[in-house]
Amino acid sequence: MSFVDYFKYVDNQYYGEELSLSEIAAKVGTPCYVYSRATIERQWRVFDSAFDSYPHRVCYSVKANSNLAVLDVLTRLGSGFDIVSAGELHRVMRAGGDAGKIVFSGVGKSDTELCHALKAGVGCLNIESESELHRIQAVAQELRVKAPISIRVNPDVDANTHPYIATGLRDSKFGLGARDAERVFVLAAAMPNIEIKGIACHIGSQLTETRPFIDSLEKLIDFIGQLARVGIGLSHIDIGGGLGIIYHNESPPTPDQYANALINVLKRRKCNLPIIIQPGRAIVGNAGVLLTRVEYLKMSSDRNFAVVDAGMNDLLRPALYQGFHEILPVRLSGSSTRHAYDIVGPVCESADYLGKGRVLDIGEGDLLVVRSVGAYGFSMSSEYNSRLRLAEVMIDRDKYYVIRKRQTVDQSMENESLLPR
Ligand SMILES: *Cc1c(COP(=O)(O)O)cnc(C)c1O
Repeated sequence: MSFVDYFKYVDNQYYGEELSLSEIAAKVGTPCYVYSRATIERQWRVFDSAFDSYPHRVCYSVKANSNLAVLDVLTRLGSGFDIVSAGELHRVMRAGGDAGKIVFSGVGKSDTELCHALKAGVGCLNIESESELHRIQAVAQELRVKAPISIRVNPDVDANTHPYIATGLRDSKFGLGARDAERVFVLAAAMPNIEIKGIACHIGSQLTETRPFIDSLEKLIDFIGQLARVGIGLSHIDIGGGLGIIYHNESPPTPDQYANALINVLKRRKCNLPIIIQPGRAIVGNAGVLLTRVEYLKMSSDRNFAVVDAGMNDLLRPALYQGFHEILPVRLSGSSTRHAYDIVGPVCESADYLGKGRVLDIGEGDLLVVRSVGAYGFSMSSEYNSRLRLAEVMIDRDKYYVIRKRQTVDQSMENESLLPR
């Protein structure tokens, strides 16, 4: 099954499921993020059923989109979660998630975070350095518990993606090289408060080929054989996330093709360890749009700009990764006064753009949608330029819910104070 989302034109008006986005803009205001519940559910189920023939767990990667309602939708489907901070842990718990199905990744877990995670009973801590192993042993001893751990190895595979989101090369800060990993596994096996669960990797994000996933899985299986020879047995393989989505003209493998490629390797290598996958982007990426209004059109002989009310603080991907997002008018006018525009925000930075050279028939006051922003959209947003954090809306068929209210001026300053007089 391929990628599908439930945003489309109906009678020249752009809809999310059964609601027109003009209506949402009229009621909630702009800019705002709008998600489709049906799309999130469909994508999660497509992943889960793609692995039907093999023992597996889908652990949604929370950093892609951590809104409580998104976590709620996934919790109800029985999802596990991949987290990278105590903040994400608290969100998953608040949404009713099962701690035992949480995998905690990240290179810099603090004592406090480890303590929260062990007390909550997370399913696995993915260790990224020898120092972290010692730290976890100490914290677990203090709490008189056994810490379930995996070691994240760095398979040295080129994910062929943007350098900022490639994490599996030898010189990356993530994971341990094979030689160090074996030594750390041996150390871990001898520690009283450590229980070895598995091996993990995550080689990058927005991958559009199966090859790097296959190569890393092969390397993990080689490594598992090496561990077996020194008497260390494992109970799962965590292959990470990273499957890409269609933003523009990419042709990433479908979840089915991705699952089949991995299962073929596992079966051929006679490996029967349960597999954990941690998709983030592939579940929520196409399930969200950013709804924004054109403030000003600025035409010149060199370049035309459409200045919109959303900026790089609201959606960072274009500025940070040169990420491409399709931009469409909410209402198709049928006239033919098209021009090429750079779609830019109000933030005082030249990197503040959402799209360049987009040919559109638009006027001031018109609504636009920026597509495929459900992942790494709101979750990477900031208040730069003292812009208020925008609202988030979830559409569920013909209803919508404001799942995050627009921030108020008072809220934006509530943790600050003037100096004493
Ligand atoms: C970010 C991350 C993921 C999710 O990556 P996607 O590209 O969104 O699927 C999974 N695992 C780890 C360890 C991550 O850091």
